Amino acid sequence: AAKAAGGSRLRFFEPAIAQKAQARLNLRNKLKRAIARREFVLHFQPIVAMATGAHVHYEALVRWNRPKALVQPAQFIEFAENEGLINHIGRQVFDMAFAQLRDWAGEGVPATMAVNVSRSQFLEEDFVEDLLARATRHGVAPSRMVLEITESLLITDSAAAKVVLARLIASGFRIAVDDFGVGYSSLSVLVEYPVQIVKLDKSLIRPLECDPRARAMVSGFIALFQSLGLEVVAEGVETAVQHEFLAAAGCNLGQGWLYGKPMPATPALAAASAMESRLVVSRLRDKDRP
Ligand code: C2E
Ligand code: MG
Ligand code: MG
Ligand code: MG
Repeated sequence: AAKAAGGSRLRFFEPAIAQKAQARLNLRNKLKRAIARREFVLHFQPIVAMATGAHVHYEALVRWNRPKALVQPAQFIEFAENEGLINHIGRQVFDMAFAQLRDWAGEGVPATMAVNVSRSQFLEEDFVEDLLARATRHGVAPSRMVLEITESLLITDSAAAKVVLARLIASGFRIAVDDFGVGYSSLSVLVEYPVQIVKLDKSLIRPLECDPRARAMVSGFIALFQSLGLEVVAEGVETAVQHEFLAAAGCNLGQGWLYGKPMPATPALAAASAMESRLVVSRLRDKDRP
């Protein structure tokens, strides 16, 4: 019986491994085809001034527009990074982002935009030249774009990253450290590198309502970052209680479902959603009134 079980186990494992490899290859091929056919689209989520609800800028978030589904980044970004395909997607993202900035400028919307950059894009030999060429081709000034990178990039590739950062900043781009509060969270990174914006990760915002230690930590971070001259964005703000705490702690900027979800850029997006989040904030204020 034991022998039979061993035999069947072997037969069981081989197809499983083969199936995994096949699934990987299928997704890889689909993604390569998607790159060739430019099947990606951007959605835009407002980042608002906490005090007024005015849209300060928008974060561009990529989606894979498949015939029957809009695939979220969690399902393909990390895979694309591991398969060496992210730089191709990243270049299309930048083209779409610059094209949108140009269109908004044409409609009289003076918006700026944040774009996420993966490690391998950032460390690509001609990243800065390529980005500047795309900005120029679309007639968009680099100062209208914020590049969101993670602190792990600054820690693990510090020497190379420092050089690229300096060149990007000299070219007029602004830099945000994304997802602060997950992973390493090394404060020295924010002192050592000339970044302008830090984004507090949702995992720090979520426990604000029930955890006094989270409240102490977040208000401490906000005060510290502001004394370093950094702009602070709270990510994943979902509730009025979180909004009120953050605003009272002196946080200037917020992003989250409370203010607006990521949306396609219909021509009316900027104006309509600006109105919407002003209403949200004024409703919050009205609620505070005795
Ligand atoms: P991220 O840069 O931290 O982006 C914020 C994520 O939080 C987005 O998820 C957004 O939809 C989500 N979010 C915003 N407000 C709330 C909220 O109130 N509650 C909750 N629960 N979530 C909220 P999304 O769009 O699924 O993107 C996930 C991640 O994928 C991004 O995290 C970013 O790291 C990556 N990503 C997205 N677009 C790109 C891209 O164009 N290039 C690269 N390299 N990475 C990208
Ligand atoms: Mg981001
Ligand atoms: Mg991120
Ligand atoms: Mg983030």
